[in-house]
Amino acid sequence: NRRILLAERPKGMPNQHTFRLEEMAVPELKDGEVLIRTVYLSVDPYMRGRMNDGKSYIPPFPLSEVLTGGIVGQVVTSRADRFQSGDVVLGMLGWQDYSVARADELTLINPELAPPSTALGVLGMPGLTAYFGLMDIGSPKTGETVVVSGAAGAVGSVVGQIAKIQGCRVVGIAGSEEKCRYLTEELGFDAVIDYKAETWKEELKQACPDGIDIYFDNVGGEVSDAVISLINPFARIPLCGQIALYNLEKSDIGPRVQPALLVNRVLMKGFIVSDYSDRFQEGLAQLGQWVSQGKLRYRENMVEGLENAPDAFLGLFRGENIGKQLVKVSSL
Ligand code: NDP
Repeated sequence: NRRILLAERPKGMPNQHTFRLEEMAVPELKDGEVLIRTVYLSVDPYMRGRMNDGKSYIPPFPLSEVLTGGIVGQVVTSRADRFQSGDVVLGMLGWQDYSVARADELTLINPELAPPSTALGVLGMPGLTAYFGLMDIGSPKTGETVVVSGAAGAVGSVVGQIAKIQGCRVVGIAGSEEKCRYLTEELGFDAVIDYKAETWKEELKQACPDGIDIYFDNVGGEVSDAVISLINPFARIPLCGQIALYNLEKSDIGPRVQPALLVNRVLMKGFIVSDYSDRFQEGLAQLGQWVSQGKLRYRENMVEGLENAPDAFLGLFRGENIGKQLVKVSSL
């Protein structure tokens, strides 16, 4: 049983020294527990925050202990009534080949409804983040202009498509030509800006002739400064992520944007998807319906092998993924 530990707390960008792979025996099962073989493991940008030792909405990962995250697995043996061997389950479990979990830590997945990997992406935490952030905080209305940063990622690609379903004009911001092509040609975005191109700020202005009514912020930093300079009166900004800042060693405040927020009476609201946990069923039902109707498409970027999970995680900060980044640890 291999597992990946947090070896040291990173300063700035994490690297291979941040992680350590080790072998350990599979623990014995107690009554009420289930042995799970990891099938898919999710790497997510928020995990970078948990590698720091500081107070946040979720406690830091302990040093020299196994990293944990969203996992889809298959039950090998069960000493809990609710599960039997062969069941496919979702849980917050370790980055390891096998996990022992209590039944109340697991959710049963029906593999007939959708591919089980989607429980970590479009029909899981990232999809719910997009849905509640956009619908609840963004309150999109037909004809409004929605800008989403991190647009080709797990959350951003869903935000843009939901905004299209709501009748908005959607402008995505992403980090490569390939991503921009995917968003316009396959997901139906109205315009996409490659923020690594020299003229991107000018292009953004041209792509938003009527200003910006909703800015779904996944990245923060310079990208958000430029978007906020085009914000409309009474705009809404769901503040979802700040990935451009997660690896900075010194904070970078950039230009002060508050005057634009004030004079335009903008609503900017940070949120964590778990704020909506009592409405997850509603969100999953809606997302599932859109997926089955072909209105909501998704891609997964699959890396093979538990040993490659650290590099897949680092790849998020290099922008290597289109859609949800997953690691395939074993087969179903
Ligand atoms: P993504 O699938 O979007 O992967 C991360 C992407 O971020 C990369 O592909 C890269 O794309 C982009 N990126 C990386 N570094 C930078 C940078 N310096 N500047 C601009 N873009 C960068 O991840 P998720 O969809 O899982 O998450 C998106 C955001 O949402 C993250 O900030 C995450 O922390 C946040 N989040 C918040 C939640 C909440 O509850 N509030 C829940 C889930 C996610 P590119 O090539 O375009 O640069």
